Amino acid sequence: MAFINCKLCGELVNTDNDILCKSCAKKMNNPYEKIKDYLFFHRGADIFEISKATGISKSLILKYIREKRITPMDK
Ligand SMILES: [Zn+2]
Repeated sequence: MAFINCKLCGELVNTDNDILCKSCAKKMNNPYEKIKDYLFFHRGADIFEISKATGISKSLILKYIREKRITPMDK
């Protein structure tokens, strides 16, 4: 059994499972978390920027905005 450091947070991970620890892998698979993370570092980014940077479709981003789960134009 070999261990490596998680690519995102540096936590020790069993390489048999992944290159990411469980919490980071979960985060990466969750588009909402991905958008939230992106917006944290890129305040004021518009839908096109978010979609391009995260690879998440604009319609899904719009859905989150409509549900008020994210607020991209917040300055
Ligand atoms: Zn991690």
